[in-house]
Amino acid sequence: MKIKRLKLSGFKSFVEPSELRIEPGLTGIVGPNGCGKSNLLEALRWAMGEGSPKSLRGGGMEDVIFAGTATRAPRDFAEVSILIEREPTDSSMGGESEVTRRIERGSGSAYRLDGRDVRAKDVALLFADAATGAHSPALVSQNRIGAVIAAKPTERRQMLEEAAGISGLHARRKDAEQKLRATEANLARLAEILSEQE
Ligand code: ATP
Repeated sequence: MKIKRLKLSGFKSFVEPSELRIEPGLTGIVGPNGCGKSNLLEALRWAMGEGSPKSLRGGGMEDVIFAGTATRAPRDFAEVSILIEREPTDSSMGGESEVTRRIERGSGSAYRLDGRDVRAKDVALLFADAATGAHSPALVSQNRIGAVIAAKPTERRQMLEEAAGISGLHARRKDAEQKLRATEANLARLAEILSEQE
């Protein structure tokens, strides 16, 4: 999966609609302290489904919404879109898709995939299958370098599973196990009903 473009509006210091094109090769973001470099990386992680406000340096999720300055009023919503290009696989055609996350004060977050409303879980699976996502080892923020070095073996294993693209399988396995248990309970109930009728 390639990330081709990031669009932000009302996200942290990016109050005006802004666009960052990510061309093939290496992309560098430079600027003075406090200009918003880390906010860009956080916008990427947020749109991919980051659920922890603390890891976005906030107290609550609404802290990602532009909070206003001495000269500008706060905004009521923040929206971030990522344009991705998916490689074709045996089961899907690939191609471009746009994932959007939006938060409004008092209403929580909503996600869209190519304009259609989707669940947070769908977005998480989309990125987990492509070995990326809000906790991808490919997104290394300043304070994460120390965390990677100090990680416990189980945490390292999780990082390796994400890098190998198999963490989406864990979520699917849990879903499948739940469905299996429900089906087994239904079968047991059916057997009981049949034996009562015999
Ligand atoms: P450094 O080089 O020091 O790490 P940086 O370029 O990574 O800095 P960021 O940490 O991304 O900068 O941006 C910090 C700026 O974002 C601060 O000026 C802060 O006031 C602003 N900011 C953060 N959250 C909000 C918000 N919700 N509303 C408005 N501005 C915000």
